[in-house]
Amino acid sequence: MLGQRMRHFRGLAGLTLEQLGAAVGIAGSQLSLIENGRKEPRLSLLTRIAETLEVPLADLLADAPPSERAALEIELDQLQRSPVYASLGLPPVRAAKTMTDETLLSIVGLHRELARREREAIATPEEARRANTGLRQRMRSLDDYLPEIERLAEETVRGVGHTAGALTHRSVSRIAERLGFELVHVGDLPHSARSVTDLENGRIYLPPASIPGGHGLRSMALQAVAHRLLGHEEPLTYADFLQQRLEINYFAAACLMPESLAVGFLEEAKKERDIAVEDFRDAFGVTHEAAALRLTNLLTSHLGIRLHFLRVGGEGGVYKAYENDGLRLPVDVTGSTEGQLVCRRWAARVAFTRTNRTTEFYQYTDTPEGTFFDSTQTGTTRAEEFSITVGVPFADAKWFRGRETTNRATSRCPDQSCCARPPQDLANRWTGRAWSSAKLHAHILSPLPSGTFPGVDDRELYEFLEAHAALED
Ligand SMILES: [Zn+2]
Repeated sequence: MLGQRMRHFRGLAGLTLEQLGAAVGIAGSQLSLIENGRKEPRLSLLTRIAETLEVPLADLLADAPPSERAALEIELDQLQRSPVYASLGLPPVRAAKTMTDETLLSIVGLHRELARREREAIATPEEARRANTGLRQRMRSLDDYLPEIERLAEETVRGVGHTAGALTHRSVSRIAERLGFELVHVGDLPHSARSVTDLENGRIYLPPASIPGGHGLRSMALQAVAHRLLGHEEPLTYADFLQQRLEINYFAAACLMPESLAVGFLEEAKKERDIAVEDFRDAFGVTHEAAALRLTNLLTSHLGIRLHFLRVGGEGGVYKAYENDGLRLPVDVTGSTEGQLVCRRWAARVAFTRTNRTTEFYQYTDTPEGTFFDSTQTGTTRAEEFSITVGVPFADAKWFRGRETTNRATSRCPDQSCCARPPQDLANRWTGRAWSSAKLHAHILSPLPSGTFPGVDDRELYEFLEAHAALED
């Protein structure tokens, strides 16, 4: 900046490098080095330069570009030093005096766009999957427990006098008020935003209350508040973005089901040998999924029970999964589990075949990694069905409701012959005698099931064909 300002004031004074150099007693070439930021001048020399140019020394040393043109020159210089530009192997362009403002603006504009695209390219699906897998592994090593956020949430809800049961919407508003925010429900939020916070006017904009009393709104408001409480800044990488999202979700869950109350409830249930996600869910007025996920934070850290959690879609793909009990989750080569199909014999999928789905489904499953006890609840969104599963190793089933179930299954996955391949007779019967085309997957992380037809599960396809052929007969 100093060099830029010197060149600016020298230009205004109408002096060449040689003329100014002669006036202050150094060679013009030395002065050029200073103006180009390659050499630090002594204060005594700067004082003489300021006197010669008839500007206050403070003006010479000020920290702002002396003109719009100089600002562009500085920006060009900085952008050309970026790793993205360096990777292109192109020579740096000097913003010579002869370069027109248009040319300079155009080059800087292209650089800005290059930088923007580079930032955008970071958020590729591959990067997202890598970051997501890294985060899952880190959380597993922590038994999915973040004591600092637990403490912060506990203080926050105590601050508004919440001591039992479900956290009311009124309490959530007061939490926001204490931070200087008003909750405003609007119908025109940007489609891609869950909430928008107006820092200047102290407002948190949320979608309209379509389901009065639904836990989603309290959770979203708490998540918006969490960004402020946790001091989040604009995320620079996809990993940062995911970490922040995990933290705000964690905070919201820890407010809705505060550690002390939740652990008290679970210890009581354990004493009765009657731990049930449905009871925990109802005690705190949250969704089944939120309650099940909350158990992953608390069961190992406070009750010493290792567990797994699965949210699986109607077609059997993983949306979310967690385990610290040794259950072998389906993963792809990068270690990512989202979008992978879980075994058809697991409770998470068997539950879809039941006709009565109002209560939880219980099942023991023998796997190559041991026997697990699972409790699964199914549900439906506008788009599709899903199931929420919480399971534990056989030895810990004794603490859970449903342990007397006689449902038992054997899974040999990831051995393909377990359930991935169609039965041999169906394969013989239908291979080459049918055709199917795939639905497009909205879920960005879903890989395509690899059957004969891209995107179509050929086992399901053949079973469908067989069933219908039988009907027609
Ligand atoms: Zn299987």
